[in-house]
Amino acid sequence: MSILDINKIRQDFPILDEKINGKNLVYFDNAATTQKPLVVLDALANYYGHYNANIHRGIHFLAEKATSAFEESRTAIQQFLNAKYKEEIILTYGTTDGINLVAQTYGRKFLKEGDEIIISTLEHHSNIVPWQMLCEEKGCILRVIPIDDNGDLILEEYEKMLSEKTKFVSVVHVSNALGTINPIKIIIEKAHEVGAKVLIDGAQAASHITIDVQTLDADFYVFSAHKIFGPTGMGALYGKKDLLNAMPPYRGGGEMIKEVTFEKTTYNELPYKFEAGTPNIADVVAVKFAIDYINGLGKANIAAYEDELLVYATQQLSEIEGLRIVGQAKEKVSVISFVLDGIHPQDVGVILDQQGIAVRTGHHCTQPLMSRLKIPGTSRASFAVYNTIEEIDKLVAGIHKVKKMVL
Ligand SMILES: *Cc1c(COP(=O)(O)O)cnc(C)c1O
Repeated sequence: MSILDINKIRQDFPILDEKINGKNLVYFDNAATTQKPLVVLDALANYYGHYNANIHRGIHFLAEKATSAFEESRTAIQQFLNAKYKEEIILTYGTTDGINLVAQTYGRKFLKEGDEIIISTLEHHSNIVPWQMLCEEKGCILRVIPIDDNGDLILEEYEKMLSEKTKFVSVVHVSNALGTINPIKIIIEKAHEVGAKVLIDGAQAASHITIDVQTLDADFYVFSAHKIFGPTGMGALYGKKDLLNAMPPYRGGGEMIKEVTFEKTTYNELPYKFEAGTPNIADVVAVKFAIDYINGLGKANIAAYEDELLVYATQQLSEIEGLRIVGQAKEKVSVISFVLDGIHPQDVGVILDQQGIAVRTGHHCTQPLMSRLKIPGTSRASFAVYNTIEEIDKLVAGIHKVKKMVL
């Protein structure tokens, strides 16, 4: 049994009291976005209600208060990822934004025709398309690490791909579609042996796994606040200081400059060089409260409890006739994708929704992965710390109902 008081945790998330189609909400779509605890909602209201001001340039009281709250969040993220320097944390609009930033700055400056970029079959579209765009522009070659039928990367194939032509490796830490936890430390090590730089897409990992970018020796690491109980439209890019310093700016505008004349503009220092325009101040401020909330529960406690949910759900779902769990990797987070014989995932989603159960259906922004698995999509239940065994029982009952209604 978990040492966390799950009922008490549930009270921190007001949305869990919602009724959907007259039923208690069962929210199993946490891999798409997590719900927000009161501390985060209060932080947003408090910011707008009491110290809303534009940051950095103001000298009045509110501007300074907003600036220090904003920068405290940067420090919280630095600690969350165990980055060495605060200026290695670039505040972005999310994972997608962070990957595009690296592709469009590091990629455009340092990659050239014939260079190889390696991604994996498990990637989210946001870690595929920015690299394809770069390849199209620069004439680089995209290579893809294959997976086995369980949803594990085939590392021998990855090692065979690596050569002096490999200049960049960009892989997902945890698959949003299958839950696979990738051995990123080894992946990074091998890439560094041939001199390639590595970006890790941590969108799914950040809420489940303790991240230490220094131990991992990641060159870049990205995540989104909205998947760790924080607000939407906010995220962070970690980059090693020397790399970030060598990269040209991404967007031009206010904040990212030191001095502007019509002849020439000089750019601001890290991290501001990459933060043009007024940022998402309220959401940045609030993310610190999300991180504090996670730290308060303890990531190891969260992971242990989510694992209980995963084990129980895997057991219960496996017993349903005609149900196949897609993705049986050795190391997984609490994400279960499944298909039901003769039933389209869309129908599963609609009928579960009628019972108040929110799951995701479709390709989960991983169309190439679905093609590899030769399925159009799956139904996916993804669990967070506020979910319960009773809710999983409801899911199981719900799936039986789906079968009765469709078959
Ligand atoms: C959600 C997700 C993304 C995209 O995150 P955004 O917040 O939409 O930018 C990328 N990769 C993975 C693995 C994800 O789960």
